[in-house]
Amino acid sequence: MSYETLAADGGRPGEPTAILEDYDRACATFDWDETRRLLGRLPAGGLNIAHAALDRWVVNGTGDRVAMRFISRQWQRRNYSYAELSRLSSRFANVLQDLGVEPGDRVFTLAGRIPELYVSLFGALKFGAVYSPLFSAFGPEPVSARLEIGGGRVLVTTRSLYRRKVLPVRDRLPALEHVLLTDASGAELPPGTRSFAELMDAAGDAWRIPPTDPEALALLHFTSGTTGKPKGAMHAHEAVVAHYATGRYALDLHPGDVYWCTADPGWVTGISYGAISPLANGVTMIIDEEEFDAARWYRILDEERVNVWYTAPTAIRMLMKQGKELAAAHHYDRLRHLASVGEPLNPEGVLWGKEVFGRPFHDTWWQTETGAIMIANFRGAEVRPGSMGRPVPGIEASIVRVSRDDDGNPVAAEPVTEPGTHGELALQPGWPSMFRGYLGNEARYRRCFAGGWYLSGDMAKRDADGWFWFVGRADDVIKSAGHLISPFEVESVLLEHPAVAEAGVIGLPDPVAGEVVKAFVELKPGHAGSDELALQLVGFARKRLGAALAPRSIAFSSRLPRTRSGKIMRRLLKARELGLPEGDTSTLEQNG
Ligand code: ATP
Ligand code: MG
Repeated sequence: MSYETLAADGGRPGEPTAILEDYDRACATFDWDETRRLLGRLPAGGLNIAHAALDRWVVNGTGDRVAMRFISRQWQRRNYSYAELSRLSSRFANVLQDLGVEPGDRVFTLAGRIPELYVSLFGALKFGAVYSPLFSAFGPEPVSARLEIGGGRVLVTTRSLYRRKVLPVRDRLPALEHVLLTDASGAELPPGTRSFAELMDAAGDAWRIPPTDPEALALLHFTSGTTGKPKGAMHAHEAVVAHYATGRYALDLHPGDVYWCTADPGWVTGISYGAISPLANGVTMIIDEEEFDAARWYRILDEERVNVWYTAPTAIRMLMKQGKELAAAHHYDRLRHLASVGEPLNPEGVLWGKEVFGRPFHDTWWQTETGAIMIANFRGAEVRPGSMGRPVPGIEASIVRVSRDDDGNPVAAEPVTEPGTHGELALQPGWPSMFRGYLGNEARYRRCFAGGWYLSGDMAKRDADGWFWFVGRADDVIKSAGHLISPFEVESVLLEHPAVAEAGVIGLPDPVAGEVVKAFVELKPGHAGSDELALQLVGFARKRLGAALAPRSIAFSSRLPRTRSGKIMRRLLKARELGLPEGDTSTLEQNG
């Protein structure tokens, strides 16, 4: 299949058409096998993510297009073509071979957004190793815990990260044989490390990807740890079929597009949609080394002429907090599609997109476990602000009522058909990027399934037209005086108040009501917490939600506890309020 065929099929480069003009038809006719065919087979047999993302473009003769535009902190831009990334990743596969690494071994990276991370990812996959990213802001404990669970044999990192985060725990990691530093060589190398660049220089360019069983493990992603100890979700090469299809359907990616995913590559979004899906779809992806910076972000959207932008509610709220004026200094006429993931996207955020960029944000829902987008608001279709959207073609989602045994294990799951009924969001297993297990925790994996459904652990409802609405994580949903209260719904209302920048809502035990609602609020600049403002916010919420759902009390906080991927940790708000143990805080933003 050529680039031209794909382009004709999915819109001409630069002039894309919405693929999902007819949602019902797309769902009725969708076929995973056809998607597999579009991706093409690995010449040696089977399916390999790195081939689907890089090499097939080189084979098609379109390898000279820009795959990745790297922007350094100092705003130096460097283009990498598909052919160059393919060659560099082949070299890295040779490095692994030269080191005596075996297929199936685990290759980790601990780094920010640097080119070597992407080379390591695809090189490891070409070699047949399992790749796992570690978030660069982790402290030594979370780093060693994950390397240990994952049995990491190779680690690619930087000199400073090595010294601060790995060296203190290295003697606890006997399996970690090779540490390659991307920014040190020769005499600068600390004992027990090698130079990434020197090894790459010494390795050859030629690499034939061996036959790859689509079921072979490819990726190990740790969950965010929002609800408890992070779990290691395992994914197979087959996942790329879903990365590719959802990139086209949910993100509206077309060859030739400029695409920017702001997620850190330490998390599943930064790999699934910050590397694999965009390259499998033939776009130019922007990789910005810098962390969040509102002015810089607007500049990138403008100067890089970004067509499709995938970001997160926490980032959108941070932009909102800084006001519209900053955004007004730039033009966004190339921006065609805006999407968000990671947390519920408040209606305020959706509409703000429209005001500032002339387009709404399109919420998408998925998890580390699902590997790819499962539910989305599609380009060209109506956006219902506050809704996650509808299942992507090929995915069957439902709201189910789960029965559990005395130990809390699910024993049965029955779909509920009545629109608007709250229940657990469940998916029909079998999509290509479904996780194949939690590493080292088979029992926990089994607990995700009942009655022929994968149970997401999120509560949701579906409206009469088939749109899904997020209610809350099963652990966070509040039960008060016979009502089931969605923290998201209460938080969204609080965010409508001009003084509120962020809100986290929890239930506190109450002898009469069972639970009562308490809200923790972060204010916008220029506002100060006071009893009057608290009363005003309670009154504001009551007017919109009614007395039963509105918070009884408000507490002001300068910074709500968040995971490093930006999710509000309601379980910590609750534990702190009740004086209970905090549990696993390895992914807490302020740690490490
Ligand atoms: P852990 O499983 O360790 O507690 P986590 O669930 O936050 O952490 P991820 O897999 O990164 O780890 O996040 C997936 C979760 O994020 C979903 O289950 C859901 O609760 C939330 N989420 C993601 N996208 C959305 C969305 N669009 N709307 C609402 N919630 C979302
Ligand atoms: Mg989870």
